[in-house]
Amino acid sequence: MQQILLDGPKRNAWDVTERFTDDVIIYQEMMTTPEAVQKVIEHRSTGDLVLWIRDPSSDMVAQSEALEMESWQSTNILDTLLSRQTNARVEIVVIQNHHFVVCATPVSVNNEALGTLYVAQDITQAQRSFTQVNRSLTLVNGGVLIAIAIALSLYIRRALSPIRQINHLATEVSADTLGDAHLKLDRAPTEVQELAQSLDMMLLRLAEAWEYQRRFVNDVSHELRTPLSLINGYLQSTLRRCQTLTDMQREGLEIAHAETERTIRLLQDLLDLARADSGSLRFNLERIDPKILVQEVIEMAEYGKAAIAADLKPTAKIRIDRHRLKQVLINLIDNALKYSETNKPIRVILSQPETEISLQVIDYGRGIPLGDQTAIFEPFYRVDEDRSRKTGGTGLGLPIVKRLVESMGGTVKVKSNPGEGSTFILSFPACL
Ligand code: ADP
Repeated sequence: MQQILLDGPKRNAWDVTERFTDDVIIYQEMMTTPEAVQKVIEHRSTGDLVLWIRDPSSDMVAQSEALEMESWQSTNILDTLLSRQTNARVEIVVIQNHHFVVCATPVSVNNEALGTLYVAQDITQAQRSFTQVNRSLTLVNGGVLIAIAIALSLYIRRALSPIRQINHLATEVSADTLGDAHLKLDRAPTEVQELAQSLDMMLLRLAEAWEYQRRFVNDVSHELRTPLSLINGYLQSTLRRCQTLTDMQREGLEIAHAETERTIRLLQDLLDLARADSGSLRFNLERIDPKILVQEVIEMAEYGKAAIAADLKPTAKIRIDRHRLKQVLINLIDNALKYSETNKPIRVILSQPETEISLQVIDYGRGIPLGDQTAIFEPFYRVDEDRSRKTGGTGLGLPIVKRLVESMGGTVKVKSNPGEGSTFILSFPACL
């Protein structure tokens, strides 16, 4: 743009310079050479464009009368401009923020050298306008760029929102919510909608597979439990009534009886878990005093000579199913006994920190490594497979505890240090 701005004045100054000699020759027919020179200078001068000629000894030969005008005189720019010696034919000269196109070339008329002709055009106004336009354009450009950046970021945000929804669904979905998990993306691009549809179909298939697995476990456990209970009954009565059994036969029957009982327990656990997962476990919720319930469980546990130190503070009531909470406590106390040395005590603490009732089952047994403390609530997970098998464990106790407690509005947590023991903490909202 600046090049275009300068091209006009430069060409104009150069044209005036080129035509100067021809113009003087025309006027020479009517007047003397100095008069002709002055005439051409006046003819070509305007408010912005001035001419002057200096002889080789730098004396002024002729100059535009416009140089006497106030606009040229008002500053001392003129002195600087007139005193310039320039070798370049056309150049841009800047004096105190004023811009000039200056063209200097030697002139001669009829082979008589006149000196150097200077043509100067003041382009300050045009330059200022250009700077202003430039500044405005920069501002507009900046504004437009910012607007484009905002529009782009909004567009990208909107375009990514379906992906965010898909991500949210993928992180939130669990086995229990598989059936209800759907994606509704009406305004997403076609490709993303197709992805959402595929994901929906995959979730549907997963939900069906999960449901099928739950039903299968439920049915198999149910079907196997009845004949096994029957076999167990026969084994028990044979062991009790038959006096003619040899020692070997009795030992064999006792092993069969113990294994049958273990399998029945496993099936019962599986059944409980499948029912808890499908939400078909029934809870008979009632307001009870947890202290009385915990005392009952401890008395039950103590028939097995377990040393249980109870610290039961009076608390508010809680709303739970008493049989299910007993099942939970028995499970935790059983584990505490199973995974501790026989001489180590077990502690049960009941307290009410603020609006929660807290029930802690503490042992000083082998403890649980930090990396296993979340996994032990998953079905069939055992920290030490061999030892757990020897204790008759099924790996289903804690998953059932977690589901039962959460179904009754509580939470279960574990704190444990290997070699020092474990603390299982149940929390239920107090009925205030
Ligand atoms: P199991 O029938 O094998 O005891 P659980 O689900 O009750 O199954 O427990 C899962 C695993 O967690 C156990 O196999 C055991 O390794 C570990 N565990 C549970 N309770 C304790 C405890 N009080 N101390 C140490 N380890 C425990």
